[in-house]
Amino acid sequence: MADLLLQLASSSRARRVVRTLGLPIPMPTTLVRGDGPWQRQPLAGRSVVVAPGDSPLRAAVDDVARAMGAEASGERPWAAVFDATGLEAPEQLRGLFDAFQPLMKTLATSGRLVVLGRPVQDVSSVAEAATQRALEGFVKSCGREVGRRGATANLVQVQPGAEERLQATLRFLLSPRSAFVSGQPLRVDGVCAAPPRVPLEQPLAGKVALVTGAARGIGRAIAGALSREGAQVVILDRPDDAEEGEAVAREVGGRFLGCDVTAPDAAATVAAHLRDGPGHVDVVVHNAGVTRDKTLAKMRPEQWDLTLAVNLSAIVRLTEGLDPLIADHGRIVCLSSIAGLAGNVGQTNYAASKAGVIGFVQALAPRVAERGIAVNAIAPGFIETRMTKAIPAATREVARRLSNLAQGGLPTDVAEVATFLSSPGASGLTGQTLRVCGGNFVGR
Ligand code: NAD
Repeated sequence: MADLLLQLASSSRARRVVRTLGLPIPMPTTLVRGDGPWQRQPLAGRSVVVAPGDSPLRAAVDDVARAMGAEASGERPWAAVFDATGLEAPEQLRGLFDAFQPLMKTLATSGRLVVLGRPVQDVSSVAEAATQRALEGFVKSCGREVGRRGATANLVQVQPGAEERLQATLRFLLSPRSAFVSGQPLRVDGVCAAPPRVPLEQPLAGKVALVTGAARGIGRAIAGALSREGAQVVILDRPDDAEEGEAVAREVGGRFLGCDVTAPDAAATVAAHLRDGPGHVDVVVHNAGVTRDKTLAKMRPEQWDLTLAVNLSAIVRLTEGLDPLIADHGRIVCLSSIAGLAGNVGQTNYAASKAGVIGFVQALAPRVAERGIAVNAIAPGFIETRMTKAIPAATREVARRLSNLAQGGLPTDVAEVATFLSSPGASGLTGQTLRVCGGNFVGR
């Protein structure tokens, strides 16, 4: 079902009525999203304000903004970046206020606020830890305030020594492709070996990608985005979904593989398919997932079993089975959910499986880091797909409104994050879970 409030919001008359009546209904803004393949200068014609003047990463941030085609000043800045990596005492947080407060009225619709900080575990004093942690509260609240205008606010915690890996993450967050990521702390570190080359365009040229559950919804969007950036994609879905799967394969110029990920021989089937074709895989996206919602009191054992089998056990077994075929500097992306971070009534099975995914990426990341393989999870909030169509209408509307952006996300929003995490430049992120929820109310 189309979002009723999004439809209303596109009518100026309806907006006026809602405002006049003072209804407590957030009216969603149409988000600016990325279009077509990655561009070298996605911010051409836009401006990015960088502050403060003398901070440790100032020059690096200026370089990124310039390379993206941005100008240093403009009446309605598209984005502002505050480098707080040098802040060591709470009093210095005043610099954040001074830099961002004047921007709150002038920031462009659907614009971006980014704060750079340090991971709290990497700082040397208690005062510095308090100061750095304060940035999280600031960014999450800022995200809520600017969300009404479709804008986002995020925090990048740069580990000392990993500064040269900041570029790709900053490019992604400043670009329109991060439209539904807000209130999110991301850590850039040096855990995973860096690739020899980080292309800014066609980042996945020559790469082989496998996407499970790709016949529809988020998986289909991910397959399309990976292929758009140059990857050769294997579309995996259940044999019963062959018709839709074949259609997606044609759409993205890839190959369909009918396989139930819970089958005992699933890993062997996928491995044989890859060996018959390219012989290896660079990107594995574990997207296949199901819900079987019931309160625990009413849940049947088969509902528990299926949800855990598809959403978690299959990821563990498939990754183990494919390990010898995953190339150096490969990427593994797993679909978790904000339900895995916060829990949800009627989703003990689903939330357990999705929290398990978070544990999986945390544990696997250091084990494959030497091979340059990065492993991350994505925790979508409410995304408009068949899965969320199954939610009762009233609950569905409430779920949409819970995001800072007052709307549900689109499959493409998750696909853009999955593509970024699959790219060579994302080597600075591993073992992490990125929420793609428009700053929804839950989780870290
Ligand atoms: P969807 O139901 O539209 O698509 C899921 C796909 O997985 C389907 O094509 C289905 O056939 C496939 N699949 C299911 N069981 C399978 C199996 N045993 N073997 C192979 N394929 C199988 O769902 P979606 O909304 O696109 O969700 C994609 C992923 O994102 C899921 O892991 C889901 O849990 C997660 N997620 C979605 C949302 C949301 O709001 N839509 C929110 C949080 C997380």
